[in-house]
Amino acid sequence: MFLTNRDMVELQAFRHDLHRHPEVSGEERETARRVVEALRPLAPSKLLTELGGHGVAAVFESQEPGPTLLFRAELDALPIEEKSQADHRSTVAGKGHLCGHDGHSTILLALATGLSRQPIARGRVVLLWQPAEEDGSGAAAVLADPRFAEIRPDFAYSLHNMPGLAFGTVALKSGPVNCASRGMKIRLSGKTAHASQPETGLSPMAAMSRLMPALTALSNGAPPATDFTLATVTHASLGEQAFGIAPGDAEIWVTLRTLIDDRMAELCEKAEQLVVEAAQEAGLDHAISYHDIFFHCENAPEAVAHLEEALTSEGVRFDEGTLPMRASEDFGRQRAICPSAMFFLGAGEKHPALHNPDYDYPDDLTTIGARVFMAVIRKGLG
Ligand SMILES: [Zn+2]
Ligand SMILES: [Zn+2]
Repeated sequence: MFLTNRDMVELQAFRHDLHRHPEVSGEERETARRVVEALRPLAPSKLLTELGGHGVAAVFESQEPGPTLLFRAELDALPIEEKSQADHRSTVAGKGHLCGHDGHSTILLALATGLSRQPIARGRVVLLWQPAEEDGSGAAAVLADPRFAEIRPDFAYSLHNMPGLAFGTVALKSGPVNCASRGMKIRLSGKTAHASQPETGLSPMAAMSRLMPALTALSNGAPPATDFTLATVTHASLGEQAFGIAPGDAEIWVTLRTLIDDRMAELCEKAEQLVVEAAQEAGLDHAISYHDIFFHCENAPEAVAHLEEALTSEGVRFDEGTLPMRASEDFGRQRAICPSAMFFLGAGEKHPALHNPDYDYPDDLTTIGARVFMAVIRKGLG
């Protein structure tokens, strides 16, 4: 084990500090500052900040040529009120680190600690604290940043803690592990009227109420590993909060999911067709836009093999678990750059689920995650 007891105490304090000060996607300025502050004494060869937003990348470089291995964590928290009695609970109303990104960030800091003490023999390690994972915009922004060329990896790895999975065990497989998803915003426009004379206006109410179950029915109930489609209505609004006005506008938000990107176009087409039909039938105008676009996350066999070797050498039990999972993960963007793989680290079968108000990252996962990643580094770069 490359971390001392004193390291563990400091790493936990760092995690709790991030946890107390959650910042949501795109607003991670202070979180990034805390990461940079913790990195400075570890003297990375290079430190990039404000990468694709508030992203931070620390490079640990050897004098000898060799491959570049990138490890990614996330900086952002969620716009959810935390329900916790812990001393390190969120100090920001309505915001909380309820996905464990504070923990993932700490795992990378543990790696930086180890790399500063025992440099690699060849190549480079890039530790990337990525912004804005939760809304799917951060990975794309980091990859689009011109400075990404300075840290372009040959392999990329990531992990996510996973409640529901036995503590300290791992789910890992080659191929798709997270679904493709995107938010579809539908606007139906008619004409408002006085509530006493609704016949003089054009209300989208009937079209809206037919459309919501029709969209939901695009779900095929298949498990994620097969030809999976899921459409979930997440928000809807109609007219104004007033008794005197018959509504003229409606908005429906629906999240579309498929196992792989190739199937998404087809699901979008079907959903759009339903909207067009409903709007035409009712004589309404319509507008459709897409948001929070996540590519599916696909593990490259070569990168999976590196992780499997590391898990085996560290004595961490792993299997395919219930992968692929329905949820999305913007690490999926990485596969356009290089072979990449992500594994899922059990937070305990009874642990509160991700994004639940009572979720908190288990600190004991930090050493496990850090040991596995460090084993990948030592095996690949010495
Ligand atoms: Zn999340
Ligand atoms: Zn997450």
